Amino acid sequence: MTSTEVENLRKLDSKELRSFVLTSAQNERHHMMRVLYGLQEIERKRLHLEWGFSSLHQFCVEGLGYSEGSAARRVQAARLLRDVPEVKAKLEEGTISLSVAAQAQSFFYRESKMARSYTSEGKRELLEKLDHKTSRETEVELLKLSPQALPQERLRQVTPEHQELRVILDAEMIQALEDFKALASHQLPNGTHQEVLRLALRTATEALRKKKLGAGRKAQARGENASAPQSPKNPVIHNSTPTTVPRRISGPWRSSRFISVATKRAVWERDGGACAYVDPETQRRCGAKLRLEFDHHPVPFARGGKSVAQNLRLAYRLHNAYEAEKMFGKYRDPRVNAGTC
Ligand SMILES: [Zn+2]
Repeated sequence: MTSTEVENLRKLDSKELRSFVLTSAQNERHHMMRVLYGLQEIERKRLHLEWGFSSLHQFCVEGLGYSEGSAARRVQAARLLRDVPEVKAKLEEGTISLSVAAQAQSFFYRESKMARSYTSEGKRELLEKLDHKTSRETEVELLKLSPQALPQERLRQVTPEHQELRVILDAEMIQALEDFKALASHQLPNGTHQEVLRLALRTATEALRKKKLGAGRKAQARGENASAPQSPKNPVIHNSTPTTVPRRISGPWRSSRFISVATKRAVWERDGGACAYVDPETQRRCGAKLRLEFDHHPVPFARGGKSVAQNLRLAYRLHNAYEAEKMFGKYRDPRVNAGTC
């Protein structure tokens, strides 16, 4: 709006101002729909991966400037619109808000995870019940249908260095927590939940790191240095190239997917423990630090690429899968769609 337009608002009477805001809100929803359909198309083509983002959510935050919450609502609403096209009218007219659409989509996703998938008809029926409901009312409504509909966890920034994690524990987890406390009671006689969680994470991370980086007994047996590398402090690597099977193979099969511990460490250090996928257009580097795999790049393993540091990089699993799919055509790597919700 120009400053003249802002000035002119002051001259409007109450009726005119009301009409102005109503029209603007309608326009806002119209533009929101354009964003949602745009996001839907980006996700369908998985362009966010090509552009160097690890998720559609990350693209919304870092590429479009939305807050975390705004991004999450838009991503979820875009998916609801994909699955239940009839929700378009509700969003356009404002009978269902973006928040409620996002809550509904998350609910359907959680239900499907628990093998209670809704049919399209079932989704439409439920959405009818959510007309003109607030977020809070929607939460109550969804909770009535399924006690698990409550968000299972919430992460809230408390200070720049602190986050509050709220998690709902089921009976199995409560038991596991008690068992861990009992086993750790020598180290933490009066451990708070924070201390117990810290120790549990350290122990588990160390165990996983040894397993994934192969820094355990086998490495020691081969005379390799089994101590932790300087910087992967706590790498959790999902290795698409398993180290256990090819390790036994020798002779003509030497050029296998086997990657030595030393090579893994070198690649990890060089790539800074983060996804090294780069968008060829913008040169944006992904940098995701979760679910990393060792990716044969630039020459794929299937094209004779060697398992040496120069031909390896760290890649977020969806980027690894995306590139493989692009390279080898029609085959759809199941990992690519695994992260759609
Ligand atoms: Zn990545």
